[in-house]
Amino acid sequence: MSMRRPDPCLSVWILGDQLLAHHPALVAAEQAVGRENVRVVLIESAARTRRLPYQRKKLVLLFSAMRHYALQLAVDGHQVQVIAAPSFLEGLRQHTQSCHPQGLLTMAASEYRGRHWQQDQLSQLLGIPVTVLPNTQFLVGQHDPFPSASLDRRVVMETFYRAMRRHFDVLMDARGQPAGGRWNFDDQNRRPLPRGHQPPPLPGFATSAMTRQVMAEVATLPSAQATGSVDGFDFAVTRTEALAALEDFLTHRLRSFGPYEDAMSAQHATLYHSVLSPYLNLGLLEPLELVRAAEQAYHAGRVPINSAEGFVRQVLGWREYITWQYWRLMPALAEANGWDAHRPLPAFFWGEPTEMACLRRVVDRAISTGYSHHIERLMLICNFCLLAGIEPTAVDDWFLSTYVDAYEWVMLPNVLGMGLNADGGQTATKPYVASAAYISRMSDYCQGCRYNPKQRTGADACPFNFLYWNFLLSHEDTLRQNPRLGQSVLGLRHLDDAERGRVRAEAERFLQQLSAEAAGDPA
Ligand code: SF4
Repeated sequence: MSMRRPDPCLSVWILGDQLLAHHPALVAAEQAVGRENVRVVLIESAARTRRLPYQRKKLVLLFSAMRHYALQLAVDGHQVQVIAAPSFLEGLRQHTQSCHPQGLLTMAASEYRGRHWQQDQLSQLLGIPVTVLPNTQFLVGQHDPFPSASLDRRVVMETFYRAMRRHFDVLMDARGQPAGGRWNFDDQNRRPLPRGHQPPPLPGFATSAMTRQVMAEVATLPSAQATGSVDGFDFAVTRTEALAALEDFLTHRLRSFGPYEDAMSAQHATLYHSVLSPYLNLGLLEPLELVRAAEQAYHAGRVPINSAEGFVRQVLGWREYITWQYWRLMPALAEANGWDAHRPLPAFFWGEPTEMACLRRVVDRAISTGYSHHIERLMLICNFCLLAGIEPTAVDDWFLSTYVDAYEWVMLPNVLGMGLNADGGQTATKPYVASAAYISRMSDYCQGCRYNPKQRTGADACPFNFLYWNFLLSHEDTLRQNPRLGQSVLGLRHLDDAERGRVRAEAERFLQQLSAEAAGDPA
């Protein structure tokens, strides 16, 4: 019996969130066998994209960016296949059966299960050698500032961030000190948006025929498989467009990014935020180019230090810290539930009505656009879910479904760790809980709300208020042990027994109603 000998070609599998200008597996394969002997494959896996009912714009962004990337590779002389298949394995089998490669090169997935599958099973499943190269999408892949930190050691973001700044020499002066004389300008970055202030619009990108084809495909997905609408899709889908989005941010928004970084607005969804995370997380942009661009704008005198540092902190600090924590805490992180929260996700997260104006606006916006900025995610959505005791995995799934920039590696540490403090305080040293006073100070949401942000109990009391105090009362002993929460817990001194009883009763009534609505049984 004669066996078919493998051709002298190598295959390169490029994952949909690895659309790098210089993909390491492609570079390595070309160096090994020459471009003419490399076969590139990208797979649109139905199993992967139906894991959750994803926001339609998110699916359009992913598929359109993949297809444009493949087209560019073909223009550059590569032999490329884009395969729509029931699963990644089926797609890879179709590909290897069509070209019989001597081996497959790929880059490690950014997600835990995918990476272990590549490393531990793929070669055997395909019957060919598989080389999994290190992932280059994160700067911690180049430099891990705390390579041997055990889980017993808590490394806070600030320590991590300063180590990264020093190593990559970002915003450091000639004496090795932080530019502007300080590491942190948070005290200058907490301004609410002045009334009538008009932030510049985000750039929108015209849809190509290829994007319109993807939109037509995604628009017809049944509602059990997708949410939101493709209408109005105008994200960048190529590196050229993503670079234009970066340039627009540097020119029009970075200057005021710092002061209004924490502001929230009913009128303006994106304010001065970069909205570059969808491109960064797909590989269309790379973290160091963003960081260097902001640093350069500061050195050129175009933006103040609090804006440049605030942006660098997001990319070189938070983003890298989050992925570092993800790999450190997985797989246990996926199941973390440190506050023993088990309430189902309220129905208004899927568009049912709520009288809470802030949440209604932010959730509606997220479902229709796939985006809200990080303070709305943290201080509105996660704050509410932590106070209301919502099951962490349900919150995480909602973020994964809804946000265009959401992937497991970023959402688990951000939502379960930072937002819900469900990881035992590994990611954030305190639970980020706040009453309506914070939301009222940092936004204009309360002006259009039927609730009163100043009232703690009573018919018009804002739910954030009685839920906040109920959370402190319910977890008083635990919270007292946290030095960063001293003042909040001390505030309980001002609540007499009667007020404590009213807070508990209001919270109980509200939470029961929430659970009933989630079960489809409005009381
Ligand atoms: Fe949100 Fe409460 Fe303000 Fe209404 S009053 S917008 S529910 S914080």
